[in-house]
Amino acid sequence: MENQDSLFETLNPPQRLLMGPGPINAYPRVHQAISQSLIGQYDPVMTGYMNQVQSLYRGVFATQNKQTFLVDGTARSGIEACLVSILKPGDKVLIPVIGRFGHLLCEIAQRVGAEIKTIDIEWGQVCPAERVEEEIKRFQPKLVATVQGDTSTTMNQPLKEIGEVCHRHGVLFYCDATASIAGNDLLVDEWHLDAVSAGLQKCLGGPSGSSPVTLSDHCAEVINRRKHVEAGIRAAHHEQGDDVMIQSNYFDLAMIMDYWGPERLNHHTEATSMLYAARECARIFLEEGATNVIARHKVAGDAMVAGLQAMGLAVFGDQSVRMNNVVGVYIPNEVNGDAVRGELLNRFGIEIGTSFGPLHGKIWRIGTMGYNARQECVLTTLAALEAILLKHGARVDAGQAVAAAMALYC
Ligand SMILES: *Cc1c(COP(=O)(O)O)cnc(C)c1O
Repeated sequence: MENQDSLFETLNPPQRLLMGPGPINAYPRVHQAISQSLIGQYDPVMTGYMNQVQSLYRGVFATQNKQTFLVDGTARSGIEACLVSILKPGDKVLIPVIGRFGHLLCEIAQRVGAEIKTIDIEWGQVCPAERVEEEIKRFQPKLVATVQGDTSTTMNQPLKEIGEVCHRHGVLFYCDATASIAGNDLLVDEWHLDAVSAGLQKCLGGPSGSSPVTLSDHCAEVINRRKHVEAGIRAAHHEQGDDVMIQSNYFDLAMIMDYWGPERLNHHTEATSMLYAARECARIFLEEGATNVIARHKVAGDAMVAGLQAMGLAVFGDQSVRMNNVVGVYIPNEVNGDAVRGELLNRFGIEIGTSFGPLHGKIWRIGTMGYNARQECVLTTLAALEAILLKHGARVDAGQAVAAAMALYC
């Protein structure tokens, strides 16, 4: 039973340093943006902000795509919206699975009723473009669906070559870039990506709850063939698509495009406060500049690796394709991983991540993302982790980690 008195206490969450694989601490400016006044969804100021958000995210995605907007919900909502809107029951989808989030794409595609073929890659590796091309020739999919940064393994799937392969074979190419966007290169137009969805709570430095999505003109056209305008708002000039209706109403991207489009056809009520947050995240990214932000994530990730290795710990996976913003590190045999994480949280207020599936109990995942891709966050985390590891009797080389990490920041 909840203590009745505590229900009336002022909300006062502890100050934490969130160094896991997401969510992370938001940029202070994002908190300010979120607390701004609410306005009506058709207020010209609000529709003006919506247009600004579209422009800003074209910058973040490095695309000219007209169809660039937010899906209201966490990153998973953007994934589901893309897959349910592109895939009809019986459509073929090819999915390279490099970790947990690849399995999620399969799960969603399965619910949609698609015919799925996977390319199963050992955790800690990425999928070669040649494998994708072979399977495209054999399986003839409508869509290739991938994850860029799969936080479950910390690997960053290269997309450029797969994009070229899909383009050459006329196959649509979708990517979940939630964990990688704004911390690693992502060039939507140059890499021939047709649909990309993301979230705010990783390198974009916001809270979870909004999913930026971009669609190529061709992909938007494929989706609009399935367009169905709801009876209650349909007018004579509306054209219905001639293809199978999208199975989800909330995640119907054809309707969402109309809501963000010039007609502003009513669908949901845009999540105003989350839109403010998304707008601020994009502004911060573009002001600092993609190159600088990504370099800041790279040095933070490299410094974290240098520190962990100096302690004598081993890092997980093929380091040549590791995401800049998350490091997997083997838990020393002598310690209980969850006990160490718990004490790190209780004594230092620092959160690091556990892991899923085959890696559970084997590695921790330490993130350096968005606002926390900073030297002080890296150094504090290393110092604290070392102290707790020593207390738990781990055989680590003491006194080396912080200096090794500092060496990457001249
Ligand atoms: C963190 C993460 C998500 C998160 O989805 P939510 O619905 O926002 O929890 C999705 N995909 C990947 C690859 C992630 O790393």
